[in-house]
Amino acid sequence: MRENAVNLVGAGLAGSLLALLLARRGLHVRVFERRPDPRQAAAERGRSINLALAARGIRALERAGVMPAIQPLLIEMRGRMVHELDGRQSLVPYGQRAHEVIHSVSRGALNLALLEAADTFPNVELRFDQACRGLDLEAGTLLLRDTVSGEDYGLPLQPTIASDGAGSAVRQSLAGAGRLRAAESLLDHDYKELTIAPRADGGFALERHALHVWPRGGFMLIALPNPDATFTVTLFLAREGAASFAALRDPAAVRAFFEREFADAMPLLGEVSAQFAANPQGRLGTVRCDRWHDGGRVLLLGDAAHAIVPFHGQGMNCAFEDCIELAELLHGRDDWSAVFAEFQRRRQPNAEAIAQMALENYVEMRDTVREPEFLRQKSIALQLERRHPRRFIPRYSMVSFHPEIPYAEALRRGAVQARILQELDPGGGVTPEPAFDLARADVLVNRELTEIG
Ligand SMILES: Cc1cc2nc3c(=O)[nH]c(=O)nc-3n(C[C@H](O)[C@H](O)[C@H](O)COP(=O)(O)OP(=O)(O)OC[C@H]3O[C@@H](n4cnc5c(N)ncnc54)[C@H](O)[C@@H]3O)c2cc1C
Repeated sequence: MRENAVNLVGAGLAGSLLALLLARRGLHVRVFERRPDPRQAAAERGRSINLALAARGIRALERAGVMPAIQPLLIEMRGRMVHELDGRQSLVPYGQRAHEVIHSVSRGALNLALLEAADTFPNVELRFDQACRGLDLEAGTLLLRDTVSGEDYGLPLQPTIASDGAGSAVRQSLAGAGRLRAAESLLDHDYKELTIAPRADGGFALERHALHVWPRGGFMLIALPNPDATFTVTLFLAREGAASFAALRDPAAVRAFFEREFADAMPLLGEVSAQFAANPQGRLGTVRCDRWHDGGRVLLLGDAAHAIVPFHGQGMNCAFEDCIELAELLHGRDDWSAVFAEFQRRRQPNAEAIAQMALENYVEMRDTVREPEFLRQKSIALQLERRHPRRFIPRYSMVSFHPEIPYAEALRRGAVQARILQELDPGGGVTPEPAFDLARADVLVNRELTEIG
């Protein structure tokens, strides 16, 4: 075995960034990816084809030195464009400074750019069509299959980093052998992706610089822009029940549902029932593991360790933070066991925090974003942020625009802030205009929230 060699399973978003970062550290990186080489094959269908990239992800990409290649792929989204049932639209800005925006990016294009950047290093070996079948922990072997030739083979395990995503074969192998306990909590809501085509003149059919959302209480539709002037639309809906995927069992039911709930989107979706029938219904869930590593032999990272639901748009951002943290821990150290243990110690509380906030954000996006109380408290929060920019930062902003604040700290401060907002605006009113005691607000903020350094 080569000195300083490391196996990486999965060349998705985290794996491709990590390959590059480990190569920079002088390691010889062998990457095993189940899919064909995307430079030669058509893009995979059925996964979310665009994603929201926010400050944490951007910071990681900057530290990896790849931002110049990624920047041209991004479309700025400045807020949520809320579509009411009657077709009215209103933009709820994400933040209050020009840079407080998130970016829509194609999963395929981003993955490709990262793979190409990793492939410029002579010490990165990218091996496509190689599926991990699991681990033989007794023998210390990483089990692989060449999916083209059908040949099974094994390689020395230590050290292996698994970035093989939410359904991780490596995690399942470790859990099966009793090396860790993994809980996969499936959401009772699924998702389906559809597409809005460009206008006849080639322009965007909806405002381009927004994340569009049709909040309908128990379910919602969202749309993110793509550089080719299309929008990727995602329906999030319960699997079973009155309003559910199960209830949309034929084309007429699909059309009636969209006409009733998303009338302004209907003309943009073309033959919606045909799209609906052609596209897969995806599952969503949260993965929690008590351990992320097996001594110095194996480490889980990204979705393999901590998949989350997508409602904060942070799964990839969090996985990119993982990559940077691991690469920094490896600086000048070669004790894999100590590095893996320290990685888990630092990242696990943050992964747990964003998992919780992502679940909470589903309710906000599909429901509370329309309520007068939400709009009032959002307005108070923005005023408090202007008055106390180093103490009071709305939780969404901490998560999306302040990578210097760890997720766990954003969760903790967010709870304090929610109590302050509740005290200033106990609710009940129907007007979105806030009226609150500014002096009291100052006292509460100064007393309850420390300055962020
Ligand atoms: C609907 C939806 C919307 C989302 N939106 C956002 C968003 O807006 N913003 C955001 O930050 N995150 C979002 N996410 C989350 C984001 O997709 C993930 O957090 C991110 O992809 C995690 O990266 P990863 O590298 O860990 O896993 P993945 O990107 O899933 O990569 C895993 C890789 O491993 C490979 N692989 C799998 N099994 C094997 C095997 N046995 N052997 C070899 N290779 C294997 C796969 O082919 C793949 O290339 C969303 C997720 C979903 C489902």
